[in-house]
Amino acid sequence: ATPTALLVGTGRGAQLGILIKGPQVLESTRRIDTVVLDKTGTVTSGRMALSDIVPAEGTDADELLMIAASVERGSEHPIARAVVTRATERGQVLKPLRRFVSHGGKGVEGSVEERDVLVGRAELLASRSISLPDPLVAARTAAEQAGGTVVAVAWDGVARGILVLADTIKSSSAQAITELRDLGLTPILLTGDNAATARTVAEQVGIDTVIAEVLPSEKLEAVRNLQRDGKVVAMVGDGVNDAAALARADLGMAMGTGTDVAIEAGDITLVRGDLRTVGAAIRLSRATLRTIK
Ligand code: ADP
Ligand code: MG
Repeated sequence: ATPTALLVGTGRGAQLGILIKGPQVLESTRRIDTVVLDKTGTVTSGRMALSDIVPAEGTDADELLMIAASVERGSEHPIARAVVTRATERGQVLKPLRRFVSHGGKGVEGSVEERDVLVGRAELLASRSISLPDPLVAARTAAEQAGGTVVAVAWDGVARGILVLADTIKSSSAQAITELRDLGLTPILLTGDNAATARTVAEQVGIDTVIAEVLPSEKLEAVRNLQRDGKVVAMVGDGVNDAAALARADLGMAMGTGTDVAIEAGDITLVRGDLRTVGAAIRLSRATLRTIK
């Protein structure tokens, strides 16, 4: 007797921009008590722009950008696109890239004109015993506290500067989080980005709990830990690095604006990439299942 109601529910979802992979998904949606949200591309637009270039003493800002962009050309990360875009806008001619390696969730590495270059988190540089000089540490701290994402650039074993990237919080995110709370759900922000940046974004949208600086493989762990604590977890994400967590969660919700890998891993696709449809999907499943009972 119930399949009709479920079909009506999934059909109503489609009208709202919520693509549900199967009627059984509505049942898991109803039991959710915790919503884990990826930051970049989910709570924020994920369209990063380079907002500042801070060279180390003795390094030229244009050279810093040109070398970093030459390496980032090997990556499709939003950070990489922002760096390459700025270099191109400035009319820079990028250099050939050799021996490119992507260190997932940490940064990238490659050779540019005999230089061995690293671009990424300070931890990536630290793993090669490269530390940031004090003025760069100060600049990084200030940028992160303002909500910016910072990557460090080093070549030939020396830190050469930092690049600051600005992302924008989607205009609908704060309202979406309020709706989740009104539905009795606990929102959690999960990100590979640093803790200071994550906390600033969380505060701006009204999220109290932040899990930051997680590697792509650790996003899955974070979901599993919450489940072990008895939570019924929805994961909302857009990136390749979210796919395992989306698959592991009791309910995976992929942003339709995100990567194919994420969409395949999720149970629901939020077509417009609007976070408010997370609450709408949960309300819809509750209403649909009430009809059945
Ligand atoms: P998120 O979980 O917010 O989507 P990611 O896991 O994609 O973040 O990336 C985490 C961090 O790894 C970034 O904030 C950045 O410091 C570093 N990183 C990843 N890819 C790159 C890249 N192509 N260039 C520089 N840094 C990178
Ligand atoms: Mg993301």
